[in-house]
Amino acid sequence: MNEKIKMSVPLVEMDGDEMTRVLWTQIKERLLLPYIELKTEYYDLGLENRDKTGDKVTRDAAYAIKKYGVGVKCATITPNADRVKEYNLREMWASPNGTIRAVLDGTVFRSPITVKGIEPYVKTWRKPITIARHAYGDVYKAVEAKVPEKSEAYITVEKDGEVITKKLIHSFDGAGIIQGMHNTVKSISSFARSCFNFALGEGQDLWFSSKDTISKQYDHTFKDIFAEIFENEYKEKFNEKGITYYYTLIDDAVARVIRSEGGFIWACKNYDGDVMSDMVANAFGDLAMMTSVLVSPDGAYEYEAAHGTVQRHYYNYLKGIPTSTNPAATIYAWTGALKKRGELDGIASLTDFAAKLEKAVVMTVENGYMTKGLCALSDLENKVSLNTDAFISKIKETLDTL
Ligand code: NAP
Ligand code: MG
Repeated sequence: MNEKIKMSVPLVEMDGDEMTRVLWTQIKERLLLPYIELKTEYYDLGLENRDKTGDKVTRDAAYAIKKYGVGVKCATITPNADRVKEYNLREMWASPNGTIRAVLDGTVFRSPITVKGIEPYVKTWRKPITIARHAYGDVYKAVEAKVPEKSEAYITVEKDGEVITKKLIHSFDGAGIIQGMHNTVKSISSFARSCFNFALGEGQDLWFSSKDTISKQYDHTFKDIFAEIFENEYKEKFNEKGITYYYTLIDDAVARVIRSEGGFIWACKNYDGDVMSDMVANAFGDLAMMTSVLVSPDGAYEYEAAHGTVQRHYYNYLKGIPTSTNPAATIYAWTGALKKRGELDGIASLTDFAAKLEKAVVMTVENGYMTKGLCALSDLENKVSLNTDAFISKIKETLDTL
């Protein structure tokens, strides 16, 4: 056996919950540790430890990503009332992803893992489409109200106790509804820089869309901030890389995306990104094949699978029933993080290994060995449905031939 690959800077490793926590250990023990002298700073974000530490462990992990630049995260439970009971929690802790995003001020990029045999529903799509979703403000932080008949609603802005803007929203005859939303120049600028940095890293074109023709102040400000930052900070770098930045109206973008062959990054405002990422994920086939990376405007990266902790499979696993949970997106979270670490630290063997492991996953599925969910989607003729254990063994077998 060859000597193990050495790392110089640790990865921030965030363990998680349920079925993905089970996958986490298996992936490390069987696909990583035999090949790499894995150097990680370990944070246990499993719900029990979050509860025990008063969620300090999540904040510590987020600051560690800021410090080292690269993290890899297992899916975690976002507690709701049921979970508070199930785990006897002291508090309904916040979503770990939300906490990490708040510290890193980042943007989430989601891309599908594409394999032959599982064809996108859109027949022109040949390459993955990555969606970048602005994860702050707009309708998600909106203030809403119902208004009675024969009333007037205004937007007012005060500064130092003085009204500086007052605009009529509507003069109501009958009853109605209103909504006030906001965003900040700082958050939009961070979003823009994260998108430009990510496009440079991937060497792919960047599209951004909004509805500036209708929303002449609000959406137009997004468009202007993107244009200004691109002009002043990124235009030359994009030229050197041979990639482009392209702004268009959201409806035009939707039409073009459907007719495209893929292979670009589509930046969306918060709501558009929420909706479009579900559309794109499903059109590519399977949520279990979506990867996700959070990129901060100052260049920190956090990799994870887009799916959750696969609770239903975990309850079967606890009963001793073998499960066919797909580890692909979690493996890609590791390979994404290892590639980035290799790139930043100049360790080519680490980057090469990560690329080989990705290739092994794709080859295994394309050779007809896959988990149950993929089997249902694949149009290969001689496909075999495997449980998680056997699937990981096949991936390892393939890896050892590369
Ligand atoms: P989920 O874990 O994404 O799973 C939903 C369903 O999708 C599963 O029941 C399964 O369908 C299928 N699925 C997802 N990933 C799969 C995989 N790798 N292999 C095979 N099938 C897969 O969502 P959930 O069950 O609604 O949520 C469970 C927990 O995850 C929640 O507590 C939630 O808070 C958390 N969550 C965390 C994150 C995160 O950490 N980023 C994201 C989302 C949700 P079948 O049952 O039909 O096989
Ligand atoms: Mg959604």
